[in-house]
Amino acid sequence: MYHDLPRPASFWSFLLAVDEDLAEETRKQGCPCGGHLHSANYLRKPRGTPIQLPEPQRLRLSFCCDRDGCRKRATPPSVRFLGRKVYLAAIVILVSAMRQGPNSRRVSELSRRFGADETTIARWQTFWREHFPQTPFWKVARAGFITLGEIVDLPYLLVDAFLGRHPPSEGWMLLLRFLSPITVPGGLQIKVSQ
Ligand SMILES: [Zn+2]
Repeated sequence: MYHDLPRPASFWSFLLAVDEDLAEETRKQGCPCGGHLHSANYLRKPRGTPIQLPEPQRLRLSFCCDRDGCRKRATPPSVRFLGRKVYLAAIVILVSAMRQGPNSRRVSELSRRFGADETTIARWQTFWREHFPQTPFWKVARAGFITLGEIVDLPYLLVDAFLGRHPPSEGWMLLLRFLSPITVPGGLQIKVSQ
């Protein structure tokens, strides 16, 4: 069973390093208007983390176009933040997965342990059950996990697929990286290229 997040500080700083790589790719592409992208990071206040994260790890990396008249924001994918959700992506995934699977946990227990209230956890369940399966991202990616028409529990299926085959830190890293295309604003519409 999967019931905890990696605790070593090195894991959480590694996630930041991955986000920095993803950000660099976005920066290099520049703005669609032809302008250059400048740093415009903003501080998030993630809750429920297993360790106290230092400030740089709470920054959502982001950019702004430098051209007058455009100034459009460009936010790269992230392995730490899932859209506008306050909790770190790993927590949103883990708590939701713990509601499912062979040893599912009660909401009250998860709420106590991770500090997310029951309404929040219910909203995450709705996200995974109703919104995520409808995304173009998942419609393409699901072929690698399930056969057509198969009913599955998300995100348990994904947690099981990645953590069942890899040591925890590596499994989490691969899973978060896999899901990163859906973390940008409007990212639920994003199509994967391969
Ligand atoms: Zn621009």
